[in-house]
Amino acid sequence: MTQQIKAIRGMNDLLPTDSGQWQHIESVMRQILTGYGYQEIRMPVVEKTNLFARSIGAATDIIEKEMYTFPDRNDESLSLRPEMTAGCVRAGIEHGLLYNQEQRLWYMGPLFRYERPQKGRYRQFHQLGAEVFGLAGPDIDVELIMLTHRFWTALGISDKVTLELNSLGSAEARATYRNVLVDYFGANKDQLDEDSLRRLESNPLRILDSKNPSMQDLIEAAPKLIDNLDEESKSDFDQICQMLDKAGIGYKINPRLVRGLDYYNRTVFEWTTTELGSQGAICGGGRYDGLVEQLGGKPTPGIGFAIGMERLVSLVVLSDNPQETANLDCYVVRVGENSEIHALLLAEDLRNSCSELKIRTHCGTGNFKKQLKKADNSGATLALVLGAEEIDSGTVGIKFLRERREQINLTIDELKVQLPSLLKDSE
Ligand code: ATP
Ligand code: MG
Repeated sequence: MTQQIKAIRGMNDLLPTDSGQWQHIESVMRQILTGYGYQEIRMPVVEKTNLFARSIGAATDIIEKEMYTFPDRNDESLSLRPEMTAGCVRAGIEHGLLYNQEQRLWYMGPLFRYERPQKGRYRQFHQLGAEVFGLAGPDIDVELIMLTHRFWTALGISDKVTLELNSLGSAEARATYRNVLVDYFGANKDQLDEDSLRRLESNPLRILDSKNPSMQDLIEAAPKLIDNLDEESKSDFDQICQMLDKAGIGYKINPRLVRGLDYYNRTVFEWTTTELGSQGAICGGGRYDGLVEQLGGKPTPGIGFAIGMERLVSLVVLSDNPQETANLDCYVVRVGENSEIHALLLAEDLRNSCSELKIRTHCGTGNFKKQLKKADNSGATLALVLGAEEIDSGTVGIKFLRERREQINLTIDELKVQLPSLLKDSE
């Protein structure tokens, strides 16, 4: 037998049993984003490797070990996108969307990171994110948090998530703090693990993010950036906290929250949950006021967030909230020679008169009994029956699959009129 080809480790198929849940969640989110005046942008999945190297930071996990990088046939180094902010900024600069303008954008799509696959952590995963350009905050920072908060409420999970908040300060404050940290951790080298020793020079802030239990006391006692903030960042942060208080959105200030990418400054936030085991971060965001300039544009403030869709979907499923059922309304069953085209045309006719209708036509072989069984298994409310007699007289037999009720026969015109109420009665 020929050997079966399997999917790549950490890259999942989304099966029909689950796609309805995804569609539902996506449409709720899309509607909310539109309601806040955000516009969709779509970027390519592949970009020049340089774009990521220059924005994310050479000493981050993503650049050091997680990117899918390959030379194309012209020997140019390309990478599958490991995140979408860099591509969004690239597109914004390239199409002149950012210069002296405000933009409120959102996107959704797959990303790729070569990580160790486990529950909630995959090599291809999906994010829905938003990026805002041209606004220095702090009001827009609060709007973005309100927007994410509205997602959770609409999806019925607001009691399962916690907002964590921190400020990384200005680029200068961050640089000063970096030296403070190098001194502190440098004096305690014997307690650092291998990863942290490496980061001591390259990216000491990331040591704060370490999950290693044996280092937690050391991290806990480290000097806090929030105590070393520049005046402006401090005042912005205080205002954000006050506005969130007024909006009734709870938060926890987490002085260890640093985020894994280098381009962040000032406000950073994360929505976390305790219900998904160790992969508890479902949304991460923050301000990146230097990034546009760093990628060749004019200095432009920016802020955004990204939601891990796989984790969000798991949380919504766990919460067992009622989801929209995608059940069929009608299943067309037909018997007799040449009845196929009549069945196909009946379904077309009904779709023309009712665009919302979910109707499937039986195709292929199968006697009447088998077809009815299929109709039943499809979850449809009604079976529409076309036999020789019906076809001759221009009528349709209606079988009620979900209630005890005699079959009725209607002309096609009568059916078009009565279908909505027949479906409603049968609910
Ligand atoms: P983590 O700390 O879990 O690795 P991160 O800081 O690397 O997350 P971001 O780059 O900020 O994550 O991406 C935003 C969100 O995308 C995360 O909060 C998470 O929900 C999701 N995410 C990140 N990496 C993965 C992955 N490999 N598989 C599934 N979801 C992911
Ligand atoms: Mg990560």
